[in-house]
Amino acid sequence: MAGRTRGLFGGTFDPPHAGHVAAVRATLADAALDELVVTVAADPWLKGDPPSAPGWARLAMAEAAFSSIDRVVVSDLELRRGGPTYTIDTVEALLAEAPGDRIVVVLGADAAASLGSWHRAGDLAALVEIAVVPRPGVEATPPEEFSAHMVLMEEVDLSSTSVRAALERGEDPRGLLPEAVVRLVLAHRLYAQ
Ligand code: ATP
Ligand code: MG
Repeated sequence: MAGRTRGLFGGTFDPPHAGHVAAVRATLADAALDELVVTVAADPWLKGDPPSAPGWARLAMAEAAFSSIDRVVVSDLELRRGGPTYTIDTVEALLAEAPGDRIVVVLGADAAASLGSWHRAGDLAALVEIAVVPRPGVEATPPEEFSAHMVLMEEVDLSSTSVRAALERGEDPRGLLPEAVVRLVLAHRLYAQ
């Protein structure tokens, strides 16, 4: 099969919020992707703390948030692999399935700025292109070795950390999270005190 262009959008999704959904939609509108694979990290080792919600719940929330969007596939590949989640491992797994594919790693400006400290960053730069989504207060300056494209998008001032804090204060998450994610959060009392 002729090579496709596949996007890869990885995250902790603890929980997935309106900023993530906007990033996915803007990237699909802006970059010519045949498919966008959304992966849920097992152990986001660059973060100080482990995720609040367990992997199964973050996967269910990611499915609820993204799988109704055309061309998006939510994958549990990183959760099944377990251990520290290195994007290079995921990219190599995608390329092992389909060696002719072009891979575009989609990431927010904050993640783009940290790329240089990712595991095997040089190997990653040689294998993928990146698409950088704007985030308020962060300049989108990926390391030079990466071939980068800036996605056109209105910034969304939202993070999972701020959503968890709002939930812990007992605030209504409607508007911050997709409706289907709100239902899962409430049904499983995911971030309640
Ligand atoms: P946390 O506060 O726990 O770090 P987060 O909101 O940053 O959560 P992550 O799961 O860490 O979410 O991020 C996954 C990807 O989504 C990263 O590439 C991140 O830069 C991007 N991202 C997260 N929030 C936004 C946003 N509001 N706008 C654009 N990109 C975002
Ligand atoms: Mg983050």
